[in-house]
Amino acid sequence: MSDFDINKSYYFGDFLPNLLKLGIKPTQFQLNSIVRFFELLIKENKLFNLTSIVEWDDFLFRHILDSACLNLVFSSDFSKGSVLDIGSGAGIPGIPIKFLNPHLKVQMIDATRKKTIFINKVSTELELKDTCAHHGRAEDFAHNPQFRSQFDFVTARAVAELPTLLELMLPFVKKGGYAFAMKGKTVDQEIQKSSKALFELGGRISKIVDPSEVIENYPGFIVVIEKIEDTPSRFPRRNGVPSKSPLI
Ligand code: SAH
Repeated sequence: MSDFDINKSYYFGDFLPNLLKLGIKPTQFQLNSIVRFFELLIKENKLFNLTSIVEWDDFLFRHILDSACLNLVFSSDFSKGSVLDIGSGAGIPGIPIKFLNPHLKVQMIDATRKKTIFINKVSTELELKDTCAHHGRAEDFAHNPQFRSQFDFVTARAVAELPTLLELMLPFVKKGGYAFAMKGKTVDQEIQKSSKALFELGGRISKIVDPSEVIENYPGFIVVIEKIEDTPSRFPRRNGVPSKSPLI
């Protein structure tokens, strides 16, 4: 990775104190990773239309800080754990999870090929080890024994409503592991609709983390779902069914 003076053109402002509130004191390598990720995203976005977030400040707060909030829930028991990020898009939250927690093994899945190509390019450029993006649908990967019940943590942001998301996430989680669903204002309504999905898929909501307790005016929530039972092999149902006919 090329080294450059990050202070030259990128201003971190309130972002760094907020990272500290999450218990993260970034190294120069991590700050360089943030800048390099942004530069790659801007460059490739012109060609491939990967994200609508193209301003540096928005990128810091809506992509990096949002992902960093997951550090509130990665328990130290799993400090060497494996993570699967479903529907990563341009690599959110998977890529920041990895460079903020280099000990975690991170895999990502996305249904759009240009996005997984981009993520793999970023992983190479940022020299992220044990990081890989796979192209395809969660519904298919979840029936592959190399993926099913293999992950300590499964993450997702902006992929589907919670009942659908649970069907896409829980099959990948090891029994005793966790799914972390990053949610916005609708979190309560989505949880209310999720009892059937939780019961059928073997999950239990263990807590809802509100990062605004540490970061003022933070708009999102993390729903922490523990996998308490094996997910029956009929789930997830075939492509598209979890969203067309959610378990509600
Ligand atoms: N997580 C990213 C991207 C959200 S957009 C972020 O928060 O910025 C939703 C992404 O999920 C898209 O890139 C889409 O291709 C992917 N996606 C939606 N349903 C999927 C499925 N069933 N399997 C795999 N990827 C899926």
